[in-house]
Amino acid sequence: MQYISTRGKIEPISFAQAVIMGLATDGGLLLPKTIPQIEKVTLRAWATLNFSSLALEIMTPYVGTDLTRAELAELIQRSYANFTHPEITPVTQVGKHYILELFHGPTAAFKDIALQWLGNLFELLLARSGETLNIIGATSGDTGSAAIYGVRGKERIQIFILHPQGRVSPIQERQMTTVLDANVHNIAIRGTFDDGQRIVKDLFNDLEFKQTYHLGAINSINWARVLAQMVYYFYAWGKVSKGDTSKMVSFAVPTGNFGDIFAGYLAWRMGLPVKKLILATNRNDILTRFIRTGIYQVETVHPTLSPSMDIQIASNFERYLYYLVNENTEVVQDLMQQLAKTGSLQVSALQNMKSQQEFAAITVSEEETLEQIRATYAESTYILDPHTAIGMRAAQKYPGSICLATAHPAKFNEAIQKAISIKATAPSALQGILEQPTRCEVLDANSSVVKQYVQKILA
Ligand SMILES: *Cc1c(COP(=O)(O)O)cnc(C)c1O
Repeated sequence: MQYISTRGKIEPISFAQAVIMGLATDGGLLLPKTIPQIEKVTLRAWATLNFSSLALEIMTPYVGTDLTRAELAELIQRSYANFTHPEITPVTQVGKHYILELFHGPTAAFKDIALQWLGNLFELLLARSGETLNIIGATSGDTGSAAIYGVRGKERIQIFILHPQGRVSPIQERQMTTVLDANVHNIAIRGTFDDGQRIVKDLFNDLEFKQTYHLGAINSINWARVLAQMVYYFYAWGKVSKGDTSKMVSFAVPTGNFGDIFAGYLAWRMGLPVKKLILATNRNDILTRFIRTGIYQVETVHPTLSPSMDIQIASNFERYLYYLVNENTEVVQDLMQQLAKTGSLQVSALQNMKSQQEFAAITVSEEETLEQIRATYAESTYILDPHTAIGMRAAQKYPGSICLATAHPAKFNEAIQKAISIKATAPSALQGILEQPTRCEVLDANSSVVKQYVQKILA
């Protein structure tokens, strides 16, 4: 399989090259040149597979010849070995809906599914090339810990994660700072999340520094993350349909960066019998506004009860845009230029209609989020985390749909308590975490201070 850029200005590259490149060098996002088509008879057979065997089948055409089947199988096996549920991503029925639980990984949020695999994949590719990688990122909470757990203890990889001191939840902070592996470097900066992002940007913009120290990012734009996330759409469909290919199923997805739901979109394009993709956002609703109006317009970010979706620029949106404009890279380029210049882009009326056929887009308020946690608990004693509650609320008009549960409720117990006056019980991944020893460097929110620290560690 070859990979191209949404902006059309790179030569086709292999899977391994796409993983190492991350963001395309022309500023676009990487995508497979063609989408493999899955026959109905294959779908039926896949419905009986366990998660790891299914992942192997789905990933094989995308990986191409860059990994042997045995290497790929071993990588998948290892990436999900430390999940606490034997099914990896179990599906349970809750009232009129199904819940696809994606939070049984080491940090109790769905990002583990992609980042456990990406960490192992990086390790294998680096061992092959003899290169090293130094990952630098800023986090407002969830992504940082999932990234740290993805690469902890790995040879050839160092990871530096900046978080705003005292501005992430105690659990989120401990999930990062209790990881004591020598290759993990937590930095609490005296400043805000925006300061952290600005510092990371500064380091990446210093091209000499970037090259000398082999800097890499760990954001949601890496193709390998999207690939891993496709697997559970097939898995959940198999559980609910029992392999009956005439059974179309809708998926409700709480969305921020358009990463998770884009994986669902691709699964659909591969031939998965999807009825509707329900795109659910919190008050930060740039994506629902886009589906409604065809205009993608950046506004300010508002903090909500579902902080992992408090996003305005959805980093995977450009991938969908590429398909929406019929894979015309010139048009994508023009639109993205418009967005950079004016803070907004607009697609044609026809394209707007097409996106409305593909997605049901629903914005869920803070009050509705709490109400949904209450309603689901009252109905079935199942506790939804606030992100999942947003998906569930959006799915109310679609009985029988599968709601993606993106975090364990115990990670967001403040919201749970507010809704139903009790706390969710911590899963084993979070138990005792507040009492464990920690390691973290506190630094001023200053790019050169952080740069010096990174140099000192890597010296
Ligand atoms: C990251 C995250 C999301 C949003 O996923 P995207 O791929 O960015 O759309 C939703 N819920 C939780 C708990 C998350 O951590």
